[in-house]
Amino acid sequence: MICGICGKEEMVEVVEPYHYTECGLSNIVLEGIRVRKCACCGNTMPMIPALSGLHHAIARDVIKKQGNLEPSEIVFLRKFLGWSGVDFARNMHSTSSQVSKWESGKVRMSTPTELLLREMVARGKKIDDCHSYDINHEETTVMHRRFQHLREGWKSAA
Ligand SMILES: [Zn+2]
Repeated sequence: MICGICGKEEMVEVVEPYHYTECGLSNIVLEGIRVRKCACCGNTMPMIPALSGLHHAIARDVIKKQGNLEPSEIVFLRKFLGWSGVDFARNMHSTSSQVSKWESGKVRMSTPTELLLREMVARGKKIDDCHSYDINHEETTVMHRRFQHLREGWKSAA
């Protein structure tokens, strides 16, 4: 394979640990990755399999860490959830300017907010409608909440 950057060299493939800075975190190393390298311009091209599975694994690791989330980890988790800064603000019942303060490290996320973020990621799916929960809303009519016992356990039948 000819280098896509300089077009001069045949790229050489090696198997080695790859420092995956593209994910936005500074401390992620992938073991045993096939990396194509150009001896001429230094262009490197990692062949990373199952990227979305990898991002799940990284996200699971980040939310289990001890201590506060780093700003870069907050950015990673937001992107993992598929949210823009605006989506993130809405889903966390916050503001865009607050989000940018968390993500730049100007302000530390409060513990309840951080736990909420970790919980959202732990549920392993994008949750589009958290912002639609009106926590101050008092229901005037009684809504039945239905649950169904299925083979895999109790499920809300909604
Ligand atoms: Zn090259």
